[in-house]
Amino acid sequence: MKHVIALDVGGTGMKAALVAQDGTLLHEERRPTGREQGTDAVVAGILDFAAHLRDEGLRRYGTAAAAAGVVVPGTVDQERGIAVFSANLGWRDLPMRQLLGERLSKWPEGLPHKGGGGRRAGHGEPLPVVLGHDVRTGAYAEGRIGAGRGADRFFFVALGTGIAGGYGIDGRIDPGAHGNGGEIGHIVVRPGGPQCGCGARGCLETLASAAAITRAWAAACGDPDADAADCARAVEAGDERAQRVWDDAVAALADGLVVVQSLLDPRTVILGGGLAEAGETLFTPLRAALQERITFQVPPTLVPAMLKDTAGCLGAGLLAWDLLSLEVTA
Ligand SMILES: [Zn+2]
Repeated sequence: MKHVIALDVGGTGMKAALVAQDGTLLHEERRPTGREQGTDAVVAGILDFAAHLRDEGLRRYGTAAAAAGVVVPGTVDQERGIAVFSANLGWRDLPMRQLLGERLSKWPEGLPHKGGGGRRAGHGEPLPVVLGHDVRTGAYAEGRIGAGRGADRFFFVALGTGIAGGYGIDGRIDPGAHGNGGEIGHIVVRPGGPQCGCGARGCLETLASAAAITRAWAAACGDPDADAADCARAVEAGDERAQRVWDDAVAALADGLVVVQSLLDPRTVILGGGLAEAGETLFTPLRAALQERITFQVPPTLVPAMLKDTAGCLGAGLLAWDLLSLEVTA
């Protein structure tokens, strides 16, 4: 079976899959990223996991993967295949595409040098590899096969530990001139507000990310272990302290989304990440808050993401298949 390797590297965990041409996940695995062991160990772990997936594909289908797609957090230069910077994982200007291509070209140990499709991965020829940005690639998957299907212009927001986004236009995600496009989490919505990891104050992600809500709710309810999901449940149960925490986060998010609407005018806004799991507890007040703030703008249709936490991995597979179709037409 023809397949590609897909790998989504996150701050704490990695998700990998073998993906068929129609986007089906044939085989899935997860491993910890292991960032507590340092950057070199993380990079070695990524290369090992990709090589393991290649071996797994050979074992299962008797044929080498046709390509690999790998997505990482931080700043990514997709054109040059370089992981430019990740505050979380510690690398700077890492030639990830080259490292993966070299590692995946070596014939796996213990496997016979035969079988169809082995030409590419079997005899020292580097495997075609594409490197992508985790959130933008997740956005790409949502646009192709998820909640943004058919939308000519959409904005995807991942509400997780941080907040990131991607602007989808005519079937592609705009990375911006320097690979920083779509960073809605760093729109300053409360000047002079909480310190953000980026160096500024009052960024959206310091107020409306899962981490921010967790902090605020733990302080408000006095339970240091309470998190954002607990806050959502307390809102649903009618807790007024939780409602205040939630309202503040929703207000900040609406302020950020109005900026997006003014600048980019997306038709659809897709909300993903753990916080979007709160469903209508989030969507209903957010739609109302957006409506209150909008003047000339046309409000976007707000929808939940469909692909959940496999979006990045699926997107990595789609990018790998795209790479092959480019090769064929070139
Ligand atoms: Zn920031």
